[in-house]
Amino acid sequence: MRALSRVLFCLGAIALLDCSGAVEPVQEAPVVKSLEARRLAVAAELQAMIATSAAEGGYNCCIKDPCVHCVRLTGHCGCAEGLKRGEPVCDECAYMWTRGQGSIPGIDPKDVRSFLEASRPEDPEAGCDCGKPEPTAD
Ligand SMILES: [Zn+2]
Ligand SMILES: [Zn+2]
Repeated sequence: MRALSRVLFCLGAIALLDCSGAVEPVQEAPVVKSLEARRLAVAAELQAMIATSAAEGGYNCCIKDPCVHCVRLTGHCGCAEGLKRGEPVCDECAYMWTRGQGSIPGIDPKDVRSFLEASRPEDPEAGCDCGKPEPTAD
């Protein structure tokens, strides 16, 4: 009975509102954020994720402002340790090293490679005869 009385009370309340005519139902406009507002929100969240990951010891990047590439993909970054072992780094870090943003002392920016670069053959011409003149048979 308690439920029924509650329903009746609600119906009464609605009737009261309808009769008064003073309360117009407010139509909530859907919030459409601009692309820029959404970009800023995502960027802020990524920075907050980097801070959390770093506080937990999971973000050891090799550039001055830690990359967002790795937090976006895995939530953590270990390219500083990898780079010290001579391993490639993520695309963003490799690019930032070319812009003088590297933060590991003793590393020559020219030696920093991205995983993409590292996956390519050392000599792109090796094993390819394209564009070369036909060998003359004699
Ligand atoms: Zn890095
Ligand atoms: Zn990275």
